[in-house]
Amino acid sequence: MTSRVITWSPSLTLVPSQGCFNACDYCSFRRPLEAAAPLELSDARRALEQRPEASEVLLLSGEVHPASPERQVWFARLLNLSAEALRSGRLPHTNAGPLSLREMARLMRLNPSMGLMFEGVGAAYDQQHRHAPSKALPVRLAQLEQAGRLGLPFTTGLLLGLGEGWDDRRRSLELLAQLQGRWGHLQEVILQPWRPDGHQALPLSPAEQAELLEVIALARRLLPAEVHLQTPPNLWPLDALPQALAAGIDDLGGIDIHDVINPAYPQPSTAALMALLASHGWSLRPRTCVHQQWWGWLPKSLRSQVEAVDRRLQLRWAAPSC
Ligand code: SF4
Repeated sequence: MTSRVITWSPSLTLVPSQGCFNACDYCSFRRPLEAAAPLELSDARRALEQRPEASEVLLLSGEVHPASPERQVWFARLLNLSAEALRSGRLPHTNAGPLSLREMARLMRLNPSMGLMFEGVGAAYDQQHRHAPSKALPVRLAQLEQAGRLGLPFTTGLLLGLGEGWDDRRRSLELLAQLQGRWGHLQEVILQPWRPDGHQALPLSPAEQAELLEVIALARRLLPAEVHLQTPPNLWPLDALPQALAAGIDDLGGIDIHDVINPAYPQPSTAALMALLASHGWSLRPRTCVHQQWWGWLPKSLRSQVEAVDRRLQLRWAAPSC
């Protein structure tokens, strides 16, 4: 039997700043802007040295208001960290909220792919985002359009389990399908179960799992086949993960040692994932932050680095030692 392939990206998350001018109700990551210490370049270098096996560097940042005098410094930090990731032979993937056209165009010279969660549409999201101006639907849609116009391979996703209904889910997925029809840049859609944060993980109940499986199947039906469907493996009970794969998930995303957003939810080891998948007829294959189908979109210098990183990845994981 040919084994089906599930992809993942060995990743290191760097947080340029936890300061954020939004205040989403569900967020436990955010710090008030004045209380957040920015990530120093020397600390980023140290983190990169400690994780040589991480090929992707996810730059996950809180947001600074577009009109704030602090915006320029914040954006310069994103550029510097992206350049540092490239210098260390890795691939940066920035997810730092909505960007102006000029900001996105500058960052995409250093980032082979970037991302922004779409989150979802409907009253439940409006309520959760009432203190988060950059989560307004027109702002998010405009960002996804802008990334498409620029030809930037892009990751987006839905945050699920916030009280949204089936009509909301369907509408969100239809909007993403329309965007993909126009631009073709959505390389993956994350279907992320919202989990309460705290000191202890609260695993998905069987009822929650069953509902999520239906969302995955709906996404697979509504989104074009080239769009990879992703879920974070630490947010599923490991023994239930094969059901999510059977429903349509084909990518496990960037996996770091810790989950910065959901620290109480430990990441499964690669060895555990490989063994589980193998026992269900799947194989786990590493990938770069940009899926191969989109390599042709990259400027020459970035494409060369992506190809070099991919060669190292395939060699490293062909005979994994852990
Ligand atoms: S935009 Fe992101 S970091 Fe800011 S409050 Fe919302 S979820 Fe948290």
